[in-house]
Amino acid sequence: MINEQRLVQTFLDLVQIDSPSGDEGAIAEFVAARLRSLGAEANVDALYNVTAKIPGNGVKQNAKPLFLNAHTDNVAPARGIKPIVAGGQIASDGTTVLGADDLAGVAAILEGVQSLVQDNQKHLPLEIAITAQEEMGLVGAKGLNLSAFHAKEGVVFDGGGPVGSITLAAPTHNLLDVTIIGKAAHSARPDEGVNALTIAARALTQAKVGKLDKDTTANFGMVRGGNARNIVPEKIELVGEVRSRNEKKLERHTRALKQAFTKAVKGTGAELEFRVTRAYNRYEFGKNDRLVKRVAQALKKIGRTPTYRATMGGSDANIWNAKGIKTIVVSVGYEQIHTTSEYIPVAELVKAAELVETLASA
Ligand SMILES: [Zn+2]
Repeated sequence: MINEQRLVQTFLDLVQIDSPSGDEGAIAEFVAARLRSLGAEANVDALYNVTAKIPGNGVKQNAKPLFLNAHTDNVAPARGIKPIVAGGQIASDGTTVLGADDLAGVAAILEGVQSLVQDNQKHLPLEIAITAQEEMGLVGAKGLNLSAFHAKEGVVFDGGGPVGSITLAAPTHNLLDVTIIGKAAHSARPDEGVNALTIAARALTQAKVGKLDKDTTANFGMVRGGNARNIVPEKIELVGEVRSRNEKKLERHTRALKQAFTKAVKGTGAELEFRVTRAYNRYEFGKNDRLVKRVAQALKKIGRTPTYRATMGGSDANIWNAKGIKTIVVSVGYEQIHTTSEYIPVAELVKAAELVETLASA
């Protein structure tokens, strides 16, 4: 049985171990030790990803394993988190994030597994990946070696809002790194230079950014360049992105952005570097998909009505789906993530753990 007190304590213990992205060593060891105490074979890799396998109990030898995933890293400000439990909710003291994104997912998995193991319940073989550096661009998941895993289906416990939501679709994400190289000159002799900044400005007025259609967004989020007030800027770098749930639209809008820059540079004597890097690939499932139905069924069993959504954000699920483990994301109850007002209702944390337990029950 899910033990609320134990679950809350696990969550409080987890958030009080500093785990900003890239510094997940201590929390990874904590999670691995906890899983080993439940009979798992658990390992921590060089990126601080934790992987663990727990054999099935009371099921056929060849029962298909279930893949479970959450991530340990927190966004800043994430050091010295002081969780406060009050009024049925857990929040930070307001100076840091809470870290429920995604330590609520981690705590739910640990409690769900503990409940199954300690109560000697029938359950499927479990393959667990607790990843690091998710917030840095799914770095842990991308780097994780899955060769020891055999699961073909799984669930990512890393979605916002009350337990019950299933993410059916997520976009493909292109990263854009644009550099315009002109020529420096004294500002009093501008004719001797090529102004990279005005070229960039011209390109940006032609480039379509923002919400481009129902599936697609584009953004330039950073501009770097220039050396002094009295120097014609030689080099301007722009950092941007395009994301779309539709691959064709993504390609079309990425091409259009490149064209805007190519046009702006043309005939100026400046050089353009337009680098496109694929961050991750899209996925999309229907409500009648077998895995979606399986998760919906489990939600109903714990008294929740499944709701469905499409997201414009990436998650580790994008990586697992690309690597051959069919995976969907479920909500775990956290609210206002990536802010110092982040909180989670205890009742949702309990439901998230119940969902882990129910999905893993044979
Ligand atoms: Zn997250």
